Amino acid sequence: MDAESRQVAVGHFNISDIAGFNAVAEAAEELKLPVIIGVSEGEREFVGVYEAAALVRVVRERKGVEIFLNADHTHSLARIEEAVKAGFDAVLFDGSKLSLSENITQTKKAVELARAINPNIFVEGEIGYIGGSSAILKETPEGAALSPEAFTKPEEAERFVKETGVDALAPAVGNMHGLLESMVSGDVKKRLDIELVKKIKESAKCFLVQHGGSGTADEDFVAGIKAGINIVHVNTELRLAWKKGVEEGLAENPDEIAPYKILPDAVSDIKEVVMARLKLFSQK
Ligand SMILES: [Zn+2]
Repeated sequence: MDAESRQVAVGHFNISDIAGFNAVAEAAEELKLPVIIGVSEGEREFVGVYEAAALVRVVRERKGVEIFLNADHTHSLARIEEAVKAGFDAVLFDGSKLSLSENITQTKKAVELARAINPNIFVEGEIGYIGGSSAILKETPEGAALSPEAFTKPEEAERFVKETGVDALAPAVGNMHGLLESMVSGDVKKRLDIELVKKIKESAKCFLVQHGGSGTADEDFVAGIKAGINIVHVNTELRLAWKKGVEEGLAENPDEIAPYKILPDAVSDIKEVVMARLKLFSQK
């Protein structure tokens, strides 16, 4: 993780199928940049836990791509154990809906469990619920920390990191999972509280992860990374690109039934988004 000293961030992209996986792997290979593949509990159920680990390992070993695998938003210790045993490089224990002290208790257990299986595992924790789905939303998610008074407090971040021993923290600093309908067109952008990112970095002294990156203003991505964000998650934008690509593929080849002839549009549409995001996250 030399991204910290270079003041750039690593892109984290979620996948649900081989089209998404190939798009991210090809973008990383072409740009010669490290990437993290994320699979949430739902995505893992579809792709397969060991299958996801095998895909990432094969591309890393055979093509020399710096590609890593994260068990995104894991809500139980059993799922943490399963992912670490399957060979994931990183896990996120998401206790963001719990009270701070309960979140600390559970996350600490997740850290101990994960490191007992793999001492080199990268463990992330999360404070501040920012919505739970990478979807197009009619309104902001209920109970989400989207106003300044609900954002993650620097002193909470410091206590959380000290008491749990996590390597990385996902705070609520203006970010949100999913996209509001007004954000799909790009008219409305998500904005980050950059001063708060700086303060959290100073007090937590660990890697910081920006979740819900889709639809964030470009200048806020860059400023957030300068202020201390090390990993940026993008999912909803990729799902939108996937759907657009599948629709194009079907429309262009109405008589085609071979998935490998229909899905290349989905790969190229997702890849375009990943390339643009990776370039932005690695610019100085
Ligand atoms: Zn997330």
